[in-house]
Amino acid sequence: MRRASKRRVGLPTSPIASDEEAQPHTLVSAPPHVTRKCRKLYVAERTVIDTWHAFEAGARLGVESTVRWAGPAVQLGDPDQVVTTVLIPHQRVSAGGFEIPFPATRTMGLALGGAGLVNLAQIHTHPADWVGHSTWDDARAYSSREGALSIVLPEYGRRIVPVKEWGIHERCDGAWVQLSAAEAIQRIVVVPDTIDLRIPFELLHDSDVQDANGPESANGPRNPDTAAERR
Ligand SMILES: [Zn+2]
Repeated sequence: MRRASKRRVGLPTSPIASDEEAQPHTLVSAPPHVTRKCRKLYVAERTVIDTWHAFEAGARLGVESTVRWAGPAVQLGDPDQVVTTVLIPHQRVSAGGFEIPFPATRTMGLALGGAGLVNLAQIHTHPADWVGHSTWDDARAYSSREGALSIVLPEYGRRIVPVKEWGIHERCDGAWVQLSAAEAIQRIVVVPDTIDLRIPFELLHDSDVQDANGPESANGPRNPDTAAERR
């Protein structure tokens, strides 16, 4: 799906660099012999919520905005990758577009490299429900490398929507291709960051503890390992 970028008005004309141009090669690129096509990204719920928070300011102002998802560099080239970090770059924004000035792109690359992270995907917001890639998006995406992922969220990111409603675009054979909803949920997997199985929360009665530890419990645990630590 393609749409012209007629709605993007009043944007500054500062030079924009792709990440490949602005960052050290090793920070953003898989080794030539490793394909990054068909990557699967695992993202903790907390990271999705942090992403939503990152878009709050833009949503309030009614402007698009962008973040990057990053993960440890040791995953570079792996087909399955874990997103650990939301990187919010300095950016210029408007109701219909955004841009990251060249110096900000370099700063972003240095921040990632300094933290031992690599860029895994670009995410940006659109004003309404349409989450396709505009010609602007095609031309100014963070990367043109095969397998690059560009994700578009609707409604300026005002609310968290299911992955199947995200626009997930992959660089494939020199063009950006939007994944189907079925493909999207296979490629972006949201996992819990905490699993709490205590519900309902059960409280032991004092008598239960006494029975389990015996009469010595009043002076300390019976466990010999713990007792040894106390000596
Ligand atoms: Zn866009």
